[in-house]
Amino acid sequence: MLQPPPTRSHAFTALASLAADVLLPRACAGCARMLPRGACQTGWCEACLTALGSGVSRCGQCAINSLTPLCEGCQTKPPPFSRTVVLGAYAPPLDRIIRALKFNRQPALGAALAAALAPLVQRELARLAPGHPRHRVVAVPLSEERLAERGYNQSLLIGRPLAQALGLPIDPVALHRQRAGPPQSRLSPVARASNVDRAFIATRPHHEPVLLVDDVMTTGATLAAATHALIRAGSPSVICVIAARTALPDVSHCPGPP
Ligand SMILES: [Zn+2]
Ligand SMILES: [Zn+2]
Repeated sequence: MLQPPPTRSHAFTALASLAADVLLPRACAGCARMLPRGACQTGWCEACLTALGSGVSRCGQCAINSLTPLCEGCQTKPPPFSRTVVLGAYAPPLDRIIRALKFNRQPALGAALAAALAPLVQRELARLAPGHPRHRVVAVPLSEERLAERGYNQSLLIGRPLAQALGLPIDPVALHRQRAGPPQSRLSPVARASNVDRAFIATRPHHEPVLLVDDVMTTGATLAAATHALIRAGSPSVICVIAARTALPDVSHCPGPP
């Protein structure tokens, strides 16, 4: 049977796949085993990808471990975001990956997290009514001081490839973080909420629903404050997309992520 001649888009796809093979790490982000050539597009081996988040029942709104679809906290005091999509617990291997992403600028790890998150987000978006307006991807920003200190925003390293994988627009400057309080990891859950309350302002009106991307959710205070800013600017709804979720109440006893 005759094969159709390669088109420009076929050639581009082949080139992109070759580039991904060359640029992405050869090792799995989860177990560091070498990946076979041609299986590098996601950055994960099949076993690690399957193991992420398996066996844990979570609240659909805030992603905390929960035996019911909506946890007690969300039933009594619902957060401003409508849903949360998460890869898994802030535990091996995600904690190690996120620390590497945060402190050693590794865009390939951001791409691996985005590749694993994309089908979960797609599944979440498929639950929405047909004709639902397109979401815009927004990464939780760092304050100017912290950005200068770190040199990059790790949430954007997940948000950019995620937007690309989903074919959705990204707005890298949608939110501005007004001030750098003490790192969230040094604070109690109550202090975390007031530390970030009103910390974000939207840089323009938002009329689209938003996929709000962050690396870790601990108490949810940061994501709630960023959501409030987007809603104040007109966004009709916000879905959080996070790589890992810590469990309460351990946050006050162990050094969690900033
Ligand atoms: Zn692996
Ligand atoms: Zn909940």
